[in-house]
Amino acid sequence: MSSPEKQKILSVFGHPDDAEQFAGGTMKLLADKGHDITIASLSDGACGSKTHSAVEIVAIRRKESEKAASMIGAKFVNLGIPDGSIEYNLENTKKVVALIRDEKPDIIFTHPSTGDYMTDHWHTGSLVLWAVPEAKHKNFKALTDTPPIQHIPYVYHTDPQGLMFADGQIARVNTIVDISDVIEEKLDAFSAHESQMGFMSHRNKPDAARKTRRWAETRGEQVRVAYGEGFTQQLNAEYPRRNILVEMLPEKVYTL
Ligand SMILES: [Zn+2]
Repeated sequence: MSSPEKQKILSVFGHPDDAEQFAGGTMKLLADKGHDITIASLSDGACGSKTHSAVEIVAIRRKESEKAASMIGAKFVNLGIPDGSIEYNLENTKKVVALIRDEKPDIIFTHPSTGDYMTDHWHTGSLVLWAVPEAKHKNFKALTDTPPIQHIPYVYHTDPQGLMFADGQIARVNTIVDISDVIEEKLDAFSAHESQMGFMSHRNKPDAARKTRRWAETRGEQVRVAYGEGFTQQLNAEYPRRNILVEMLPEKVYTL
């Protein structure tokens, strides 16, 4: 099967470091094939420090995000919603509709739309699902003059934090991408978020990069490769039904 021509990919996540942690390997594989990638963080990352002021850490994280995105081969944008405050509301939907109209993605990566460990994550996934159909509706007003999109993009939800929802079981996914060839590049890009590497770890627990490697090992083990990233494609009516990643990354995508 031949790879589809150049596609536009938009990653929409809650915090500046989420894209690399949950989809960095897949984005790197796609960037290496010449596809165009934009990483959007809805929040400014202001809560990601125990020592810096909000203004200081937001500036630090913007620089880290731009570096990480460049290592993936992506562009970075930040919608500037205060960290910890990503509400599922009309105002934020209009921001995401504007983002989608401006970027015109063929494919969107985002968080699960429910049940992740914090609301910033699943509200982001929900806002994407609210915004996608409205981005196509001519009479839905958004914060851009860019015309509505013509086609509903492919939407893939990543794994939840720690690969699990509230039931404590490993989450079900319907797609696993073999990222073995780019695991080090993924972790290097994720580790470019230097301010965050120790922030989420605790005594006797692994740091963020080691934890992320372990999740990739778990998804890889499921399909008998070294490292993987799990996704659940949004397959409701109106969403495209083909799994386009299978065509874009031949030999690397497993459907479950
Ligand atoms: Zn996050």
